[in-house]
Amino acid sequence: MSYVDEVIEQVTVKNHDEPEFLQAVREVLDSIRPIIDADEQRFRRDAVLERLVNPERQIKFRVPWIDDNGDVHVNTGYRVQFNSAIGPYKGGLRLHPSVNIGIIKFLGFEQIFKNSLTGLPIGGGKGGSDFDPKGKSDREIMSFCQSFMTELCKYIGADTDIPAGDIGTGGREIGFMFGQYKRLRNLFEGTLTGKGLSFGGSLARTEATGYGLLYLTDELLRCHGESLEGKTVVVSGAGNVAIYAIEKAQQLGAKVVTCSDSTGWVYDPDGIDVELLKDIKEVRRARLSEYKSSRPNAEYHEGRGVWSVKCDVALPCATQNELDVDDAKALVANGVTAVCEGANMPTTEAATKYLQDNGVYFVPGKAANAGGVATSALEMSQNSERLSWSFEEVDSKLKTIMENLYHNIDNAAKRYGFEGNYVAGANLAGFEKVLDAMNAQGIV
Ligand code: NDP
Repeated sequence: MSYVDEVIEQVTVKNHDEPEFLQAVREVLDSIRPIIDADEQRFRRDAVLERLVNPERQIKFRVPWIDDNGDVHVNTGYRVQFNSAIGPYKGGLRLHPSVNIGIIKFLGFEQIFKNSLTGLPIGGGKGGSDFDPKGKSDREIMSFCQSFMTELCKYIGADTDIPAGDIGTGGREIGFMFGQYKRLRNLFEGTLTGKGLSFGGSLARTEATGYGLLYLTDELLRCHGESLEGKTVVVSGAGNVAIYAIEKAQQLGAKVVTCSDSTGWVYDPDGIDVELLKDIKEVRRARLSEYKSSRPNAEYHEGRGVWSVKCDVALPCATQNELDVDDAKALVANGVTAVCEGANMPTTEAATKYLQDNGVYFVPGKAANAGGVATSALEMSQNSERLSWSFEEVDSKLKTIMENLYHNIDNAAKRYGFEGNYVAGANLAGFEKVLDAMNAQGIV
């Protein structure tokens, strides 16, 4: 049996109840076969893959917090510090009832390669809790965030591990966590990114993941003799990534006709009104069903259905495994050209294969949504030099990073004989740099 297959088998036995983590490991290990197979004996001797798939450290802790009635609740907090070969751990904190150790490990593992692809010196990590911020008052959110940080602060720091936002963790949550970190550690340092602008946050960080996704998509289309101008785009999600993906797509001349949340989805034939969407989701923190009352031409449907809408480009921006093989079939039947992942692993393995087999340009999240973490790293740079760059400066660096990233994965795919396969290209290019650093640092 090949070394790659041996390790996939070991990981499957050891983590059998963590399907998302297994899916991520299978995909990466399968892609990097050309590198591993070329010097299998040495990699096996040095247990390179075992070291790659086992996190350097996993932290799990109790998070007690008090609600507005004085009742105490207990959630579970996690931080997985996966790989620090190329820099301090960096990755977001997810607050969602579906969070468990398998989800955090899958996200942390993906983060290693994503962070490597940005070209910036950041290692991979991820954290979060099964706490559900929905329907909680600001005071309850603060109670949770302070308790969460009281434990987490022992393991993070500006040169050790720098968490950021993710699903359920936006500017409000990062603010409460930063305040508690500063209070406990007596340090005003850039330990968290996604901070408010008045205390060390970076301009353009809020927009970065969505904007970056579109900079990459635009470059992809241009390299194939097309552009976003006049294209119809479908987007899922209505959170941070989705909102700014819609905004940038429209700025680049596309018409975005859908968005969704966990209860339903909107079809707006006139193009999504992004200012209205921001008001509903960022200001009122309300359900998407409210969209229709201000846009009579739009339709609101309960459940899921975004992928059944005819489009040229599809951008899944909500959550993992939200686009399955039936959705992929519907997209292909409707003539989709490109699918670029704004969320982390939103496309199932079977759907990915179907899209690739049918000639759709498919760019995985670890490449397409890397603009968020790249701009977080730019926030770290600004914090270190105690300066703030202008919106234009950060945005232009982001654009350059995403365009370079596209060419990096495209070239890697070509170099290894997988032209047009951006999944292979992203995994190979991301792994090359991590492998080089791991080899240089000895068996640690
Ligand atoms: P938000 O919490 O801001 O928004 C998430 C959106 O997805 C909401 O519309 C939410 O609906 C919907 N959603 C979440 N879970 C589910 C679910 N189980 N089923 C259906 N819909 C769901 O998160 P972000 O926009 O920040 O993150 C979206 C994705 O992008 C995630 O995969 C995240 O890991 C990834 N990502 C985010 C980055 C960032 O900078 N924010 C960076 C890179 C990747 P509802 O409001 O109803 O819950």
